[in-house]
Amino acid sequence: MISNGVPDLSQNKAVRLVKHAADNGYAICATCCYNVEGILASVRAAEAKRSPLIIQLFPWAVTYADGILVHAAREAADNASVPVALHMDHAQTPEMVKRAANFERGFDGIMVDMSHYDDNLEKTAELVKYCNERGIVTEAEPGRIDGGEDGVGDLSELGLEAILTTPEQAEEFVATGINWLAPAFGNVHGNYGPKGPQLDYERLKRVHKQVGDRVNLVLHGAGAEWFQEKLLRECIECGVAKMNINDAFNNDFTRIMQEQAGKTPITGLIEKATDAMQKSIEQYIDWMGSTGMADKIQ
Ligand SMILES: [Zn+2]
Repeated sequence: MISNGVPDLSQNKAVRLVKHAADNGYAICATCCYNVEGILASVRAAEAKRSPLIIQLFPWAVTYADGILVHAAREAADNASVPVALHMDHAQTPEMVKRAANFERGFDGIMVDMSHYDDNLEKTAELVKYCNERGIVTEAEPGRIDGGEDGVGDLSELGLEAILTTPEQAEEFVATGINWLAPAFGNVHGNYGPKGPQLDYERLKRVHKQVGDRVNLVLHGAGAEWFQEKLLRECIECGVAKMNINDAFNNDFTRIMQEQAGKTPITGLIEKATDAMQKSIEQYIDWMGSTGMADKIQ
């Protein structure tokens, strides 16, 4: 929907899903997919649970497959019997943000992750405008979340340190026009080490209190080892409404491949891996309180 040449972002599919979750005390499961099996598993899990869902792709999917995975994910999202949106996670250069924004039938949302640049805020503001003009909503990361995951640049390899998000910083980013904010509050991409997550819930609550009336909060770094029902529920209580899930189901793919390669025909191998991923995603949908919510979204 376009009025005065500016798309109406309130009608954007992704933004409506996450807002519904925020308003109703649950979170949207956002699955980071690397292959068609992950995309199928995500949609099947959402349909089985009558849950909304967001399929996420890293820039890797675009550079590796030149849009094939984007088209597959878009098709899967649009054909689902429940509301499913498509988001690019961690677009880390202005060029990638623009490339992702210009798919004819592509992303509903893009994470404009300029957190490794000194001028994070300035770059974000410019790119948010670029995306919004094309009807795409945005997510950004004030501060800097530690670590890295497959397909995302690792901070420590870039020689950078984590910076926890302050309410003031969050406010500055909201002013750029972002729809979703990914706070750094002790969450880490990848390995948490022997102590496990040291989450600063007070900080998360302060950020939510400051900006939660205008943007919805996103959890990054929900590694399967630590982030199960308890931590997920605690984060939702602090105001998180979208949770990115990665190894929690992608590890099923590699496990099945490892266990059964050479023993099961390739068709069976692919089907078993898809089924296993679906089961894991269903579990997360339950934990996030999203089961049955598809039928409540207008
Ligand atoms: Zn992330």
